[in-house]
Amino acid sequence: MEIICMDCGQAPLKAQKENIRYLEGGLPNVILKDILVETCPACGMRFVTIPRMAELHRLMAKNVILKPGRLANYEITFLRKTLGLDKKTFAAKMHVRLEQVSKWETRNAPATISPSHDLALRLLVAQGQRFEDYFGEVDAVDFRSTKQPPPVTLTVRDNHWIKEQLAA
Ligand SMILES: [Zn+2]
Repeated sequence: MEIICMDCGQAPLKAQKENIRYLEGGLPNVILKDILVETCPACGMRFVTIPRMAELHRLMAKNVILKPGRLANYEITFLRKTLGLDKKTFAAKMHVRLEQVSKWETRNAPATISPSHDLALRLLVAQGQRFEDYFGEVDAVDFRSTKQPPPVTLTVRDNHWIKEQLAA
């Protein structure tokens, strides 16, 4: 079945599966595997189809709150948005001033989040999303580490988003 480009109407789209870096979620290191990408040979337009977005974002959030090092600025922003909170409401929930949230989230020399606020944010997200296995794993968090983990590859298997396990 051929689908004509919705943008230029000049040519049928060519479909293929690609691994794509998913930056729209706000995290720089998420790779989605075997994603349907349809490309127009005439105008070069790309149409990317990402299935089950809500579930994907829940898995991304879970992956962030289980990471072993301190939360980075972009991760704090991502988790705040996952909670559906604007900066002001988030500041109130975290018992900090609005300026503190901006200092955590800024791209330009962000302030390191304190261990207690880091933990509170993880728990807020965990509580909101009912991660049953969260509390056992939080003991493994090394709050002294600010090292960022390697990229995570997410893929759909049996109709659900899963984190791809790296070969040992
Ligand atoms: Zn086109």
